[in-house]
Amino acid sequence: MVLSSSSTMKRFSGKVAVVTASTQGIGFAIALRLGMEGASVVVSSRKPTNVDNAVQQLADHGITDVLGVPCHVSDAQQRKRLIQSTLDKYGHIDILVSNAAANPTVDPILEIPEPVLDKLWEINVKATVLLVQEAVPHMPRGSSITMISSIAAYQPQATMTMYGVTKTALLGLTKALAAELAPDIRVNTVAPGFVPTHFADFLVRNEDIKKAIEEKTLLGRLGKTSDMASAVAFLASSDASYITGETLVVAGGVPSRL
Ligand code: NAP
Repeated sequence: MVLSSSSTMKRFSGKVAVVTASTQGIGFAIALRLGMEGASVVVSSRKPTNVDNAVQQLADHGITDVLGVPCHVSDAQQRKRLIQSTLDKYGHIDILVSNAAANPTVDPILEIPEPVLDKLWEINVKATVLLVQEAVPHMPRGSSITMISSIAAYQPQATMTMYGVTKTALLGLTKALAAELAPDIRVNTVAPGFVPTHFADFLVRNEDIKKAIEEKTLLGRLGKTSDMASAVAFLASSDASYITGETLVVAGGVPSRL
């Protein structure tokens, strides 16, 4: 990944950042960016080998103040361990990035079985709320929370309608939590456009779909994980100290809202 020169600024020296689902894709890019800018970074995802690999990859980029903790975000004990391990090592949390999501179905809403609805809600929305509950008592004044929603929050697309609805819920959660945590903790959200990752591998597998989506953007390209990381770094930084309760769409101009 190529980092812009602005990423050599150290806006997060002395800050502690916890990023969920951060062993690949957008989450890893966020961890990398925050680490490049001086943060102590806690990386996590479900699989311990992925966590170990991510810690190694960060070290390969010269980022060594890193803690890796396996955490399936919908497991209460694992969420507790993520926060407790962070506190044991660093004592507090300045930046929480809730990035994990699942998109387990292509069914229309009328056909989605209840267990699948439960999984979507559990991972995409409820786990964020519970992680925030766990983390907030350890976040000092001036801290920030950033969630990762999606362009699909504004217009749920066919084949991922209910996923889109859970991402819409995060926009409301952003507003509600921002009000509840003000003025001490800012809460914002990034809504990515289409980024070719494992999660969106249809973009990589099918050249026609990729072209069609590129044409929907004003900027004529798919998003990069580093585009999302830049936006998260901005919202987590003091550059955004007067911004809370907002969602930043990072989608190359794909229509979202006025
Ligand atoms: P990705 O490249 O597939 O990475 C997913 C990461 O999440 C992996 O590190 C995975 O590691 C981890 N993970 C998966 N389920 C988890 C769980 N239950 N608990 C903890 N970690 C979990 O995905 P991505 O594209 O970067 O997506 C990241 C976020 O961006 C998601 O919220 C997604 O909705 C959002 N988003 C993506 C796009 C896009 O086009 N890519 C667009 C809009 C929004 P393990 O397998 O080890 O758990």
